[in-house]
Amino acid sequence: MIHDFLVIGGGISGASVAYELADDGTVLVLEAETSLGYHSTGRSAALFTPNFGGPVVRRINIASAPFFAAPPDGFCDAPLLTRRGSLTVADAGSVDKLPPLLAMSEPGAVVVEIAPKEALALAPYLRAERIAGALYEATVADIDVAGLHQGYLKAIVRRGGTIVTGEAAIEVQRRDGAWEVTTKRQTYRARILVNAAGAWADQIATLAGATSIGLVPMRRTAIIVDAPDGLDMAASPAVDFVATGAYIKPDAGKLMASPGDATPTAPQDVQPEELDIAQLAHWIETETHIPVRRIAHSWAGLRSFVADQAPVVGFDPHVPDFFWLAAQGGYGIMMAPVLARAAAALLLSRPTGDIGVDVDAISPRRPGVSAG
Ligand SMILES: Cc1cc2nc3c(=O)[nH]c(=O)nc-3n(C[C@H](O)[C@H](O)[C@H](O)COP(=O)(O)OP(=O)(O)OC[C@H]3O[C@@H](n4cnc5c(N)ncnc54)[C@H](O)[C@@H]3O)c2cc1C
Repeated sequence: MIHDFLVIGGGISGASVAYELADDGTVLVLEAETSLGYHSTGRSAALFTPNFGGPVVRRINIASAPFFAAPPDGFCDAPLLTRRGSLTVADAGSVDKLPPLLAMSEPGAVVVEIAPKEALALAPYLRAERIAGALYEATVADIDVAGLHQGYLKAIVRRGGTIVTGEAAIEVQRRDGAWEVTTKRQTYRARILVNAAGAWADQIATLAGATSIGLVPMRRTAIIVDAPDGLDMAASPAVDFVATGAYIKPDAGKLMASPGDATPTAPQDVQPEELDIAQLAHWIETETHIPVRRIAHSWAGLRSFVADQAPVVGFDPHVPDFFWLAAQGGYGIMMAPVLARAAAALLLSRPTGDIGVDVDAISPRRPGVSAG
């Protein structure tokens, strides 16, 4: 059988585009791991932060909001977003970083300046002497990432698509005008190949004879610690520390923290470094009144970027029927609904005008992306 579309990667990117395609053609999703969402998709901070990333990313985030707020009927059992709110705090040495953030605030996701004492009232575990300025953004929300991912995956199957797990593409060849993707078990055939392989997207391109887009996977570390005694974490906002890029967010009655690190790393099942974990625990105790008695959980994940930090979505300029859906960086969960719609429209030769993204700004042909 020749499928219309073979999607490599069953993370949020592969699942969302396969969902958008499955009503219009035969779709096969091929995932190397036995469990879907094992890599970046299962390792995120699960935040919808519309004012995060560059201008292209921000517009996509905003355009994705209606999907999260009102997903299609039957897509999921629970709301995809839960209101969280977000504080950005600056110490005396970094307070000049706040006005540009305020100025970049997107319409519909407004950021406001608040007094340090208001910031302390929202997050009483912060150290008063470390807050010289603060911003607040009400539109930030927790994303039910598993609910979103499962919603896409279940609908793919309902729409007649096929999901294969535990099989990595190891050979990708073009023969007689179609793609042949070989795993250790078998060979699959498709008219169009969609490269949604996350940190491995450049490796898939190499297998297919396409040029690299200069993708750089960056390791980011996270830990979960106990919340301070007596604090209602459910009502507490996420907190960004603008001085270092570190952040803290409530997570199921505990606190998740990340130093906001971005260490270039080869694609792999990335693990946190002991030193990064120890430094993060020390940082929490220095910057907040939270005692780190134990680290309940720690992990690392990859955020993969090209040079301009915008996603890469579109047909490869040189290799026929090879489609990129890559470089989602630190925003791939919240951008997924709109990127998937844009990708499907391009794959199905449909208009893209009302999707909410300038497809030239995310094209692999744009200047600065090596494949162009
Ligand atoms: C610590 C951290 C915090 C983050 N926080 C946020 C956040 O708050 N909000 C947000 O929107 N985003 C966030 N992100 C970013 C987000 O997680 C990613 O952008 C998104 O998950 C990327 O999804 P993906 O499907 O492209 O990649 P992945 O989830 O990595 O999926 C790619 C899949 O391709 C598969 N694959 C690779 N090679 C092959 C092959 N040869 N054959 C078959 N399958 C293959 C892999 O096994 C993998 O499952 C965060 C990321 C990290 C690491």
